[in-house]
Amino acid sequence: MSNITVCARFRPLSSKERSNHDDNVCVHSIDTENFIFKDEKEEDFKFSFDRVFYEKSEQAEVYEFLALPILGDAINGINGTIITYGQTGAGKTYSMEGPSIVECDEKRKGLVQRTVDGLFEYIKSSDESVKYMIKLSMVEIYMEKVRDLFDLSKDNIQLKESRVQGILLSGVTEISVFNSGEALQNLASGIANRAVGETQMNMASSRSHCIYIFTVQQEFTKEKRMKAGKLVLVDLAGSEKAEKTGAEGRVLDEAKTINKSLSALGNVINALTCGPPGKTNHIPYRDSKLTRILQDALGGNSRTALLCCCSPSCSNASESLSTLRFGTRAKHIKASPHAYHCSEENNVKKHGTCYTTKDESSERI
Ligand code: ADP
Ligand code: MG
Repeated sequence: MSNITVCARFRPLSSKERSNHDDNVCVHSIDTENFIFKDEKEEDFKFSFDRVFYEKSEQAEVYEFLALPILGDAINGINGTIITYGQTGAGKTYSMEGPSIVECDEKRKGLVQRTVDGLFEYIKSSDESVKYMIKLSMVEIYMEKVRDLFDLSKDNIQLKESRVQGILLSGVTEISVFNSGEALQNLASGIANRAVGETQMNMASSRSHCIYIFTVQQEFTKEKRMKAGKLVLVDLAGSEKAEKTGAEGRVLDEAKTINKSLSALGNVINALTCGPPGKTNHIPYRDSKLTRILQDALGGNSRTALLCCCSPSCSNASESLSTLRFGTRAKHIKASPHAYHCSEENNVKKHGTCYTTKDESSERI
């Protein structure tokens, strides 16, 4: 059993924050794992995480610490999940995608591009007797509906549970990709399909949870054996309180739905970490689509990393504190992921891939 990896990341002050002279930086670094957070009332809070990335931290550092070990596991058939959490404007999407998924200099590439590059580099250098297949899916959870970002006509994807493979997205588009460029072009088209709107917190904040799914399938041609790992990257919608966004009507409904699913995520984390010792208590995964999709990641069969993104500014202290407290609770989640092997007969010949297998144990949610 190992804990999930929890990191905090503080972005640089924005130009708006910098121009406000009464605004101070409220994070005071101790070292790469500890810092003091001073809130608006000058009260000190000490936080410790597996790693803290301060404003000068590079995208490459975040990738190497957070994603690279998980990518290595996914290649070996162990599922992995990387989640960015935080208020709108805190740097979640920047950490995932950099300023743009396709037109981006090397330095600012995010976790998604680096993961894609890392995956194809690994394949290039690997033994020729192993055949790799990489498949991409991309969905968003918007107003409690799972939408296929590669095919917008699939706007209400149902979830199924397989005893062997965990939670599956029924009928989701899977695109086979053979190089980084192709993968990123497809992901860029998925990103363009996201529901994006304006709130007072951020000019173009996304009010949906965005989920990238990479399936890495290996076929050991000599041994006639298959192995598959799933790597899931989740760019969550902003965690700020609905009333702070100044939203009304549909936008307020969206904000409330986001708050509800993030509360469900918090409740799942609480249930996983605060249960009575030795007893298996009820974990409310079914309370939202988000927690249902993240069930494998949080419930143990995945190596999981959480990046808590924060503004360094005192003007955002209360939201940052709430993000950091969320991360502190998540540190106590235990996981013991295992590789999933699929036999050739019942999966590959019939269906081409492990993850489209019609499993008798699947259940509609
Ligand atoms: P979120 O997805 O959490 O709403 P964004 O990732 O869109 O926030 O970040 C908000 C703004 O801050 C963007 O303009 C982004 O480019 C900038 N930003 C965020 N993190 C960093 C960082 N580490 N370095 C430089 N700019 C950043
Ligand atoms: Mg974003």
